[in-house]
Amino acid sequence: MSDTAIKHVVITGGGTAGWMTAAAFSKLLGNNIKVTLVESDEIGTVGVGEATIPPIKNFHKLLGINEQEVMKATHATFKLGISFENWGQVDDEYIHSFGVTGKECWAGEFHHFWLDGKMRGHKDEFGEYCYELQAAKQNKFALSKDMPINYAYHLDATLYAQYLRKFSEKLGTERVEGKISQVDKCPATGNISAITLASGKTISADLFIDCTGFRGLLIEQALHTGYDDWSHWLPCDSAIAVQTKSVSKPKPYTRSIAHKAGWQWQIPLQHRVGNGLVFCSKYLSDDDARTLLLDNIDGETITEPRVIKFKTGRRRKGWHKNCVAIGLSSGFIEPLESTSIHLIMTAIVRLLRLFPYNGVTESGVKEYNSKLDSELNAVRDFIVLHYKVNQRQDSEFWQHCQQMEIPESLAHKIALFKETGRVFLDDGDIFRVDSWTQVMFGQGLIPTQYHQIANVMSDDELHKFLASMKLAITQAVEKLPEHDDFIKHYCPSN
Ligand SMILES: Cc1cc2nc3c(=O)[nH]c(=O)nc-3n(C[C@H](O)[C@H](O)[C@H](O)COP(=O)(O)OP(=O)(O)OC[C@H]3O[C@@H](n4cnc5c(N)ncnc54)[C@H](O)[C@@H]3O)c2cc1C
Repeated sequence: MSDTAIKHVVITGGGTAGWMTAAAFSKLLGNNIKVTLVESDEIGTVGVGEATIPPIKNFHKLLGINEQEVMKATHATFKLGISFENWGQVDDEYIHSFGVTGKECWAGEFHHFWLDGKMRGHKDEFGEYCYELQAAKQNKFALSKDMPINYAYHLDATLYAQYLRKFSEKLGTERVEGKISQVDKCPATGNISAITLASGKTISADLFIDCTGFRGLLIEQALHTGYDDWSHWLPCDSAIAVQTKSVSKPKPYTRSIAHKAGWQWQIPLQHRVGNGLVFCSKYLSDDDARTLLLDNIDGETITEPRVIKFKTGRRRKGWHKNCVAIGLSSGFIEPLESTSIHLIMTAIVRLLRLFPYNGVTESGVKEYNSKLDSELNAVRDFIVLHYKVNQRQDSEFWQHCQQMEIPESLAHKIALFKETGRVFLDDGDIFRVDSWTQVMFGQGLIPTQYHQIANVMSDDELHKFLASMKLAITQAVEKLPEHDDFIKHYCPSN
């Protein structure tokens, strides 16, 4: 073994990022690498981040985590998508679901057939051809081999970290409680050599994973990696979060309700609801945001409303020297499409695939950072799309978003869709064409052209094609049980 070999990894921080990393490393890195996680009870975690997207299921599979067990432990519900309310115009509503709409063919996705159908007088909405979307609308859910459904979870972030902590400790991760007060670097290499806790205890390691949240204790405060500020594209810089008691059955989707200077989330768990407002401080004060949120929630509050400030953007390098930033320490793109936990997972998997067993190499670091770049740019573009393509005339904030400059890559995607009805994915895109079209149609963007493939069908053939697809979905959704009833027998939290 070379003397640069990685024998000890220290993870700093015990939020969702820290414990997801510890769980994956302790399960998948092999027996020769020691994993230590340091966290501070006094500092605590950010305490939000409870909606996920479907690939989280793959992460659990990779780790051998049983779905029913983790859902029970985290009081989880199923998520089929997000209901966007007041985003296109005030009183508009659409669901961005995790499903595929209709059937694609060589020429492109189903929306070309739907657009052709519209021209020929069909009145059905785009979403009527999507199983997940219709199930969400009717609060239905079930797992079935005959009619697979694409879903994610709403879960309690604190309970999820606790679950992963138990999982990791059983597999040998050592947890150290304490506040890190000093980060030491090797003068010759600039690598991090050790961290020192307020108690005086020093822990040295070969590789450090910075999961210390927004503060980026290692990646920024020690290594000065730099930050790209994206707030000119995503102007919201604040959030206020509060939990409430449930007053109705949990819906199988997240709600995102646009207000005059931001948007409100509602994430239903089995026992409570996570609520919050993401807003832009230039247009709304913290006090007004608090009033707005409290005026728009159902159910008794069970926590004090808490303001969280953030700067949208990304650390210039996710991996720098012998330190990899995972989670909020690596940057933050606001939670509109619940992408942060997903980015934690992809960072972990990418790092595991490139794991520098015999020492950090320049090429490995470069590969990691380049894949991260593509992924972050693609997520950023998808989130900016929601803001840019709004039609609201009622507030300065939304008008600012309509007029703001957007990344070149997104400007191209919007123009291509507007002019041709086509969507092509970029490297790193984590959302499918279906997601892009659901949001673009949902917010009122109708293309002037589309592929003429449906022309091969007569009116009667197109009608039968569309009607049979819709019927199959309607019949399948009718057979599904209520989401709440399914949870009660599949994964009740008590
Ligand atoms: C308003 C908001 C809503 C969000 N909603 C979603 C969502 O719906 N879906 C989603 O995927 N993501 C969401 N996110 C993102 C999600 O919350 C985070 O990605 C996730 O919680 C991971 O956070 P973290 O572990 O990186 O940081 P944190 O939870 O902040 O954890 C940091 C850890 O570092 C420790 N630490 C810090 N400094 C020290 C020190 N000096 N010594 C020792 N320990 C230290 C802390 O104690 C803590 O354990 C949201 C974020 C925000 C701000």
